[in-house]
Amino acid sequence: MGTYITVGIILLGASALCYSLLPSAGLKYLWKQKSRQRARGGSADRRLYLTFDDGPSRAYTGELLCLLKQYQIKASFFVVAEFAGKNPDLIEWMEEEGHLVGIHSVQHKNALFRGRRFICEDLRESVETLEKMGLNIRYYRPPWGHLNLWTLFYIRNQKLKLILWDVMANDWSARETAKSIKEKLLRRVFPGAVVCLHDGRGAAGAPERTIEALKESIPLLLEQGYSFERMDAYEC
Ligand SMILES: [Zn+2]
Repeated sequence: MGTYITVGIILLGASALCYSLLPSAGLKYLWKQKSRQRARGGSADRRLYLTFDDGPSRAYTGELLCLLKQYQIKASFFVVAEFAGKNPDLIEWMEEEGHLVGIHSVQHKNALFRGRRFICEDLRESVETLEKMGLNIRYYRPPWGHLNLWTLFYIRNQKLKLILWDVMANDWSARETAKSIKEKLLRRVFPGAVVCLHDGRGAAGAPERTIEALKESIPLLLEQGYSFERMDAYEC
């Protein structure tokens, strides 16, 4: 009996590994390797791709849009469809300012061990919610970068491009301050890097610290010769 249980656990573990854990970790690794290679090979100029997940939020997204406008920066927003549905004016504002809008699931649920139906519906509903607002959705970032084999099938099926990231500054964490986020950003960026930040969710008003960090980081990055582009200018 004990042997059967052990074999069952091993098979279950192996299935989870092949179904979702390896694809998620492997794709993140490949994404970062590719970016680092381009930066080392000199094929990436001093562009940065600012991306914001988990919004839009009534409390923070407007302030962020004003800050980006101040520096004429175009960014990419991976929005949670449910939040987008509640804040259509913020989505319209992003569009008016020339930012790129992509999707980041319906309710920010973890897709790691979800089945075919969930993945299919989550992508379909996310796209549909945004397309009803007149947007053409082409880019998808999974929450936490967690995906499985069905995710890969359906993003291809729906002609979406998967977008991961190179740089994070743990800006969702209550432990981080605006100063520590700024320091992480300045230390971690490199030419051609995709930077993942957050304008919604997070712990204890996290996006406020992100915005404060950006207020100081953006002028310094511009001084260092960086420019900012949307994800549709990125060669995936
Ligand atoms: Zn997220």
